[in-house]
Amino acid sequence: MNIILFGPPGAGKGTQSKYLVQKTKGYQISTGDILRDEIKYETDIGKMIINDMNDGKFVSDDIVNKLIKKIIFDPDKKNKLIFDGYPRSLTQAKNLELFLNESSQKIDFVFFLNVNKETIIKRIEKRKILEKRSDDELNTIIKRYDTYMNTTKPVLDFYSKNPNFYEIDGSSEIVEITRKIETFINV
Ligand code: AMP
Repeated sequence: MNIILFGPPGAGKGTQSKYLVQKTKGYQISTGDILRDEIKYETDIGKMIINDMNDGKFVSDDIVNKLIKKIIFDPDKKNKLIFDGYPRSLTQAKNLELFLNESSQKIDFVFFLNVNKETIIKRIEKRKILEKRSDDELNTIIKRYDTYMNTTKPVLDFYSKNPNFYEIDGSSEIVEITRKIETFINV
C-alpha cells in the first residue's frame, strides 16, 4: 500500500506517517528529514540547500526528485511507501506518477490534513521547543505556510479529483485523525 500525506507544515503529517509505518509495515519518506540530513552531514547537496531551507523556501524539484528516486525504486520498499511532505509541487506530483508507473506501483490513498494558519503557528512554536529545528522560527513558519499555500494548490487540484483522495480536519486531536485514517485504509 502506498500512501501520500499532504498538508501544510505542522499539520501532523510526520506524526500520522509514523503511525502508518507501524500499522502497514511501511517506510516513511519524509523529504524534510532527508534534506535536513544532507545539511547535517554537510554534503554537496546540503551546502546547496541550506539557505533556502532556513528561509522557509522550497528546495528545487530537481534535487528532491533525485533524492527520492532511489527510494521508490528500492525493491524492499515497493508498495510500502508512506510519503510525508512529497510531492509539494505539480512537477513533483507528475514526476512521482512517472516513477511509480516505471516501477509498476500506484498511490492507494492521498490524505489531505487541512489546518488553518493560527493552529499551525501554535503547533510549530511548541515543536520548536521540543525539536529545536532551525526552520521553526516564527517568521520562517509564516513563510513556510505561505509558500505551501501559494505553491501546493495545483498539487491539491491534481489529487483531489481522484477517488482515493480524502480530506481530513487536521486540527482535530491526533488520535481522532488516526482513527479517521484507519477507517479508510481498513487494515
Ligand atoms: P518539512 O519537514 O516537510 O516541513 O520540510 C522542511 C523544509 O524542507 C521545507 O520548508 C522545504 O524547505 C524543504 N522541503 C521538504 N520537502 C520538500 C519538497 N518535497 N520539495 C521542496 N522542498 C522541500
